[in-house]
Amino acid sequence: MKGQWLSAARAPLEWKDLDVPTIGPDEVLIKVHACGVCGSDIHLLEGDFGPFARTPLVPGHEVAGVVNAVGSAVVHLKVNDRVGLGWTQHSCGVCPQCTAGNTSICSRQQVTGIQVNGGYAEYVKATARDVIKIPDNITLEEAAPLMCAGITTYSPLRLLNVRPGQRVVTLGLGGLGHVAVQFAKALGAESIGVARGQDKVELAMNKLGADLAIDSSKTNWVEEVNRLGGANVVLNTANNAQLMGEAVHALAPDGTLVLLAVDPNPLTLPSSGEFIQSRRRLMGSSTGSISDAVEMFELASRRGIRPMIETYPMANAAAVVERVKAGKPRFRAVLST
Ligand SMILES: [Zn+2]
Ligand SMILES: [Zn+2]
Repeated sequence: MKGQWLSAARAPLEWKDLDVPTIGPDEVLIKVHACGVCGSDIHLLEGDFGPFARTPLVPGHEVAGVVNAVGSAVVHLKVNDRVGLGWTQHSCGVCPQCTAGNTSICSRQQVTGIQVNGGYAEYVKATARDVIKIPDNITLEEAAPLMCAGITTYSPLRLLNVRPGQRVVTLGLGGLGHVAVQFAKALGAESIGVARGQDKVELAMNKLGADLAIDSSKTNWVEEVNRLGGANVVLNTANNAQLMGEAVHALAPDGTLVLLAVDPNPLTLPSSGEFIQSRRRLMGSSTGSISDAVEMFELASRRGIRPMIETYPMANAAAVVERVKAGKPRFRAVLST
């Protein structure tokens, strides 16, 4: 098979002949149709993951394709099923996190495309338990980024029991944020998008179904949200530590600020009283569990939630990665085989 090979951090991607993976009894082989290019892939290529990453390998953790072969112990998937594979290529199934259903924080997990071979290739293998079926009305190209952006934004909304009568503010309307606005709306909350620039405001209002969009380059968004009564949940999808610190001030009593995007700079937080008096919370989150993924696809399927994508041939991944690094794609770049 052909695949993109990363020999080491900061080395160029090589489109080369690789062996098709051989599967064990609990695994499935997926014929890859699409793989999203994530900001995390750029961090991998630049060596930001340090020893957490295990190069050499095939990158890519936003995979969608079709089951090509199943191991002898696999009972819930069959050849030709349309499936997705996200951040977790293998969860152990038996640790305290896994048995509680929190597979995304399994301490024995193998991370797709960062610790084991991922989806920038014609085939990828995974533990069958961690492979998610894709509804028929979602294309494989659309499903690929949902395996990352969809799960990552839906998971905290579900954990925080977001419901009608609540207000969810999404900071940043890029790859994660433009999906988050749609999920918050679909869960019945008042969904507010905050981003810089009139084009993003128009997009949120006209295409994403936001109840309100605020251009943070023109308006003090914290004041605006407080004028409405504060946010029950703020989802931060922007790589901006200053914004994360500001966001605490936009929380309603009992509100939660969820950090989804990384900025290596330290956070500047308000004094502890701001958290204590009104029981405000700060949480980090990455990806989500198997059941988060199943629910996320169900909601996306029923409510027409789709990522906005740009599709490129997988053979051109090296050039696409450069585009992503330069911030050129407006939303998710997807590699297609
Ligand atoms: Zn991702
Ligand atoms: Zn586990």
